Amino acid sequence: MQVPALVEPSRTPPIEPFEVRGSFDTPCLLVDLERVEANVSRMAATMRDRGVALRPHAKTHKSRRVADLQLAAGAVGLTVGTLGEAEVLAGEGRDVFLAYPLWPAPPKVARLRALLGVTPLTIGLDSAEAARRWATELGPDVRRLRAMVEVDSGGGRTGVVPSTAGELARVAQDVGIEVQGVFTHGGHGYARPGAGAAAADDERRALAEAAEALRAEGIEPAVLSAGSTPTAEGAAVAPVTEVRPGTYVFQDRQQVGLGSARTDAVALVVAATVVSDAVPGQVVVDAGGKALSKDRAAWLSGFGEVLRYPEATIERLYDYHGVVRFPESTPRPKVGSVLLIAPNHVCPVVDLAASFLAVRDGELVGRWPVDARGRSA
Ligand code: PLP
Repeated sequence: MQVPALVEPSRTPPIEPFEVRGSFDTPCLLVDLERVEANVSRMAATMRDRGVALRPHAKTHKSRRVADLQLAAGAVGLTVGTLGEAEVLAGEGRDVFLAYPLWPAPPKVARLRALLGVTPLTIGLDSAEAARRWATELGPDVRRLRAMVEVDSGGGRTGVVPSTAGELARVAQDVGIEVQGVFTHGGHGYARPGAGAAAADDERRALAEAAEALRAEGIEPAVLSAGSTPTAEGAAVAPVTEVRPGTYVFQDRQQVGLGSARTDAVALVVAATVVSDAVPGQVVVDAGGKALSKDRAAWLSGFGEVLRYPEATIERLYDYHGVVRFPESTPRPKVGSVLLIAPNHVCPVVDLAASFLAVRDGELVGRWPVDARGRSA
């Protein structure tokens, strides 16, 4: 991955809070269902107009009910990052793409074999070693395994050089794996605000080159899959056939800063109570690193945004304490006040909670479990 240029920690445009009434224990996650539905239908409509399939990454919500909303809006299936997520979110004929270069160690092989009987499953592949090992471990069952060859489009994380994708696809096909196509994740779209457009172009170029490399081996790729939230729209142009954004469903402060989310699209906040104002110039809330996560892009200041207090900075996080600094001229919220905090990066935050409170028209309407919480293996 390209090292991001050092920029001054920036402030994002203020996120618009949603209404919530009633009482709840803190810290907790509040999810505004109208915003979720708007995010789901906006992305679905964009991809329908483009004629590009949408396969949302479910690692963001880890929720069967949210997955149902996405599938009902026209998603062709789900993307997941682990077998654990697939085990929880698959079933009922849902088509699942495990977009990860899974290594076929025996415990994973046993779990994958069990899943193959339940759900249409495709895995990521970025080495000939993994392809051959899958064949050895699965035996004749390897013929039921589908794979997508991963290519690197500039993120520098995983994926082979696009021009070599054909060689890997050939090895996979020769050992009995059904090669569906090629995929990439333009993670460099996160490098700085506005980086998504160029990363989306990189994704398209890399997939087009990889598809040619497969054709040179006589393998016609059915799927060219790109994706992330910052690149989804830009990448959804031929020859790309599918995109896999995940974060768009809840959005977060980082996406607002990147320019990939509207300020009224952030659908999930962490509610936290002010538990201390003993130290001048700051308050302490009951949401620390175990509620907000310590994720922070180099270009982002603080560990989240306190809604309605745009001048406040979440300066330090301990496990259960969040220290929020206020400029001298700004009144501090009183002890006992409940603050709504938009997390920097929503995906790890969801994984820290057992459930979220669903909100509609400002009322609490239910508690939705984070079904695949902790399923990181
Ligand atoms: N596909 C892959 C392989 C990913 O790793 C990710 C995110 O990490 C996504 C899709 C979804 O990207 P985002 O969270 O930006 O929506």
